[in-house]
Amino acid sequence: MAKKQFKAESKRLLDLMINSIYTHKEIFLREIISNASDACDKLAYKTLTEGSAVNRSELGIAIHLDREKRLILVGDNGIGMDKDDLENNLGVIASSDTFRFKEEMKSEEKETDAIGQFGVGFYSAFMVADEITVRTKKYGSDTAYEWVSSGADGYTIKECEKDTIGTDVIMHLKDDTEDEKYSEFLDEWRIKELVKKYSDYIRFPIVMDVTKSRKKEGGDPEKPEYETYTEPETLNSMEPIWNRPKSKVKDEEYNEFYMQKFHDYEAPRKVISISAEGNVQYKALLFIPSNVPYDYYTRNFERGLQLYSGGVMIMEKCADLLPEFFQFVRGVVDSPDLSLNISREMLQHDRQLKLIAQNLEKKIKSELLKLLKDDRESYEKFWTNFGRQIKYGVAENYGAKKDLLQDLLMFRSSNKEGFVTLDEYVADMKDDQKYIYYAAGDSAEKVAKLPQNEKFKADGIEVLYFTEEVDEFTAQILAKYKDKEFKSILDGDLDSEKAETEHKGVYEFVKNALGDKVKEVRASARLVSHPVCLVAGEGLSFEMEKYFAQVQPDSGIKADRILELNESHPIFAKLSDAIEHDEEKAKKYASLLYDQAVLIAGLPLDDPSAYTDLVCELIG
Ligand code: ADP
Repeated sequence: MAKKQFKAESKRLLDLMINSIYTHKEIFLREIISNASDACDKLAYKTLTEGSAVNRSELGIAIHLDREKRLILVGDNGIGMDKDDLENNLGVIASSDTFRFKEEMKSEEKETDAIGQFGVGFYSAFMVADEITVRTKKYGSDTAYEWVSSGADGYTIKECEKDTIGTDVIMHLKDDTEDEKYSEFLDEWRIKELVKKYSDYIRFPIVMDVTKSRKKEGGDPEKPEYETYTEPETLNSMEPIWNRPKSKVKDEEYNEFYMQKFHDYEAPRKVISISAEGNVQYKALLFIPSNVPYDYYTRNFERGLQLYSGGVMIMEKCADLLPEFFQFVRGVVDSPDLSLNISREMLQHDRQLKLIAQNLEKKIKSELLKLLKDDRESYEKFWTNFGRQIKYGVAENYGAKKDLLQDLLMFRSSNKEGFVTLDEYVADMKDDQKYIYYAAGDSAEKVAKLPQNEKFKADGIEVLYFTEEVDEFTAQILAKYKDKEFKSILDGDLDSEKAETEHKGVYEFVKNALGDKVKEVRASARLVSHPVCLVAGEGLSFEMEKYFAQVQPDSGIKADRILELNESHPIFAKLSDAIEHDEEKAKKYASLLYDQAVLIAGLPLDDPSAYTDLVCELIG
């Protein structure tokens, strides 16, 4: 039979995995068992929704060891696979996400670390096995299939005999080498240990024939003789980890559970364990990932928590349990109050579920605040990964959640290396400082260079740097924090910045020269070394103008432009002089200065070639 080839990327990944020095080869067992458990869950779920006759209590996982033939078999009576499933599930690794793999992975070391990310669980068995046979029969089908592969060179599929529904994964172990004793996985004690370590909470029994010894019957009571026999034993306690009291669970156990269940290759940043009694009873185990999930910014990303009712999974991703601004949270919720066969539509209106969701929201917030207090560095990393979502959360729905979220906010600022919270900003304000000042722009570096910053810097007043488009909207919705209003330093109406002038004529001239381009031309009190700057009139800011230009290019929505000139700059004297002696030249100066201010504000020039012509003309 001709061998089918794995898809190209899959092959590369497979090679990598088999040949990499992966320190935890033992995890293959956890992966295979976890697949078997998923398969049982899927069948149980199907019977729940379709009302057919498989009872949950009949489902389980079996392990057989054959020392002579060097075989480990992991069997389940779960949902099984048909021919297409085998092709689609075991013929492709990591499917569409492989592209990201290629993009992100620079070093070999990183590559091995990332394996867990891509749902390549099944293939980890090739770390210990030189041949894998999968015999499987799908629920509702009469035909069983056998899939065989020795790794990267491809696989075969043919029909086979199998009486029962479900899947057997049979791994033939590699020969032992100096460094690697693969035969350890044929020892009962080792398997028992691994199941305890990684799969204890699996909610189906994992059964293995275990060798025991007993006194021989009818022997001499003085000189008892012993005989060995085998007996099936359930190796896992089956108790869900979230049911165990927090104090009884080790950090590593939580981490293992998280990594396995949510396919992450790194331990979570924070574990939140909740046991609620009272008007709604539930247990929840939530995790804040250390990194941004690889599909977080793709359309494939689905928010939600896994929902259980008394230990039985009833929904894979329950979105109603998590607001969008906390969508990075992963975890499980288990409540005995929820009915087992409740439909999705009914769940949406379920009162219990709403109460749980409200509680979780508050709890997640308070745990994040705790992280901020106890481990600043970790919180800043968290914020870099997921802060944007929270800022959107403040801005959405007219600020309905601003009270909940405002203390979690952080921004870059002119005075600090890292981030500053609003609370810290207000605490550090000058005695006579009225506003929380901010400046918006593409990046902290760019914002720091804005001429409008100069005066604030000189006066030692801290300015928040708004570098994401949502920031200004967030500040507008907040309007105030601890009674202090937000104010952009690019705003036209900074009271303290109104400057007196004895050169009214200059401003009138420039305004006339520029016409409708500007709303006003005036003296600046905020400039120190720069000749000009542009500030926005009331209402819309320049950053918002840029935002609208992106999302609604034809809207023509523009901020009012106010041009400010620095009277102590030598250019101002030149301009005044030109107005007196050469009006044509003065008009050109005016136009040039305006264009410069536009450029510094990060806005597009109306006519870039006219600008460069003018520069050339004036140089020449
Ligand atoms: P993942 O479990 O992360 O999806 P795997 O490579 O471990 O990735 O498995 C790929 C797919 O193969 C699974 O999603 C599942 O559809 C199928 N599969 C693996 N093992 C079994 C099994 N024992 N029974 C049924 N389907 C299975």
